[in-house]
Amino acid sequence: MAAKIPEFDYAICMACNICAELCPLTCIEMSKTGIDALKKVYPVLASPATCTGCSICKNACPVEAISMKETIPTSH
Ligand code: SF4
Ligand code: SF4
Repeated sequence: MAAKIPEFDYAICMACNICAELCPLTCIEMSKTGIDALKKVYPVLASPATCTGCSICKNACPVEAISMKETIPTSH
């Protein structure tokens, strides 16, 4: 997993789908997971293991609803 992966702020997100469209590795899927009563289709990081942490999604979000959060390094 990348050192940083996107985290979505659903209080800001307007479910525009831009982040999902622009992810080069299609890690983001729009999902009706009942985030709120509006039943909008919000993005989720469906494939965190595939995400490279490139921040394209974060930089493309028009309302800055995405922040890159550090992943916890796995120790072996
Ligand atoms: S950081 Fe890059 S690879 Fe990861 S979800 Fe966003 S656009 Fe896709
Ligand atoms: S680009 Fe931003 S506002 Fe649009 S769906 Fe993604 S997180 Fe939400």
